[in-house]
Amino acid sequence: MATYGRGAAPVSRDNGAMSDAPLSFATAQVQAGFTAGAAENTAVPPIYQSNAFQFGSLSEARDLFALRREGNIYSRAANPTVLVFEQRVTALEDGVAAAAVGSGQAAVALALLALAQQGEHIVAARQLYGGTIDLLQETFADWGIEVTFVDQDDTQAWRDAVRPTTRALFAESVTNPIAQVLDAHAVAAIAHEAGVPLVLDNTVATPYLHRAKDLGADIVVHSATKFLGGHGTSLGGVIVDLGTFDFGADAPRWPQLTEPYRRVAGGSLLERFGAKGSPYIALVKTKYIHDLGPSLSAFNAFQLLQGLETLDLRVARHSASALEVARFLDQHAAVARVHHPGLESSPWHAQAQKYLPRGAASVFSFDLHQTGDPAGDFARVEAFIDRLRVVRLVANIGDARSLVAHPSSMTHSHMTPAQLAESGIGSTTIRLSIGLEDPADIVADLRASLDQV
Ligand SMILES: *Cc1c(COP(=O)(O)O)cnc(C)c1O
Repeated sequence: MATYGRGAAPVSRDNGAMSDAPLSFATAQVQAGFTAGAAENTAVPPIYQSNAFQFGSLSEARDLFALRREGNIYSRAANPTVLVFEQRVTALEDGVAAAAVGSGQAAVALALLALAQQGEHIVAARQLYGGTIDLLQETFADWGIEVTFVDQDDTQAWRDAVRPTTRALFAESVTNPIAQVLDAHAVAAIAHEAGVPLVLDNTVATPYLHRAKDLGADIVVHSATKFLGGHGTSLGGVIVDLGTFDFGADAPRWPQLTEPYRRVAGGSLLERFGAKGSPYIALVKTKYIHDLGPSLSAFNAFQLLQGLETLDLRVARHSASALEVARFLDQHAAVARVHHPGLESSPWHAQAQKYLPRGAASVFSFDLHQTGDPAGDFARVEAFIDRLRVVRLVANIGDARSLVAHPSSMTHSHMTPAQLAESGIGSTTIRLSIGLEDPADIVADLRASLDQV
């Protein structure tokens, strides 16, 4: 067999106990030049694009599998690049632990599956992201998990919807597209009275604008696809345990955390992780990510980490530019109404001042005047959107670019007319996600198009 490296320094094996004989070509091409476990001293977290990790010995492997010691095993469950992302988001949300997953949709699904089992119940805001409504209304129903939707501003409706089988209250801190600001204190109080956690989707607000923990949330989820990444390149999601909810206070209600758990040594997850770490995140990882497999890739975690490094700078700019755009729209003759809680005219203005002291979110919407017939309304919206040059027609939010969408024919097109009306979405409602361009260019683009409507 041909050997590799004739005339060059011999390729040494990472297992020094074995002979120094040069490796054959086929062996060298898979093993040379890399020693598992060696720190390369990179200043920036590298992309650990490795499916699995090498154990020093069988006894180390056995301890790792039994979760008796921490370390890397296999990237579906844990990857060092993903771990850096999890720890960074945990710090930004002031939590105790996080689980990263491949999309925001997976984050919402797993966050709630770990709390509510078949035959149990969730109370959710009806103003949720469309994909979340689909998940709760159809897939959770298939699995025997019941969901009651309530108007998120109606505290009595939240209270009335709670049942003995309720296991979580779920809402978005700022909704899309109408930018309603949740009264998080009030909903958290109802959740805690009911003995269940408040789970908040903090995607639109971000931890920079909205400190979910101070406002009473227990668990936070994000579509990291949006502002955490911030550049429109990478899907991702993350679930953060803020460490505020005591699952031990009513142990029989949470058997998944308080009864003996075969997958880790040392009794129940609460016994194992209650004092340090998060029994809840341990369940998300060792059961739901392990069994269902919606893992975040190391590459996407790296991209999301790049985004996080500028989160405050970007969000401050997004937010200031969005308010400037909202003020411009508010005085334009073609615009009937602007749904931005930074404007004094918004029903959520006082709540925005209380919950979002650094500025309102940059995802909001406005209505063109209606024409009286649906075809006329659509033609008016089309004339406006198709003339835009700086603001792009894209079904996404939280990008560096400014994006526009028409909810009733795009993102929310499968909702019933009643659901659309309840959510405040009309035929001429147009959503904007204001990006990082010069705000004067965004305003000029919108003005040029609106003047033609
Ligand atoms: C986009 C979004 C999601 C879903 O996230 P994906 O990363 O697209 O799966 C969930 N919640 C909110 C509020 C979102 O905006």
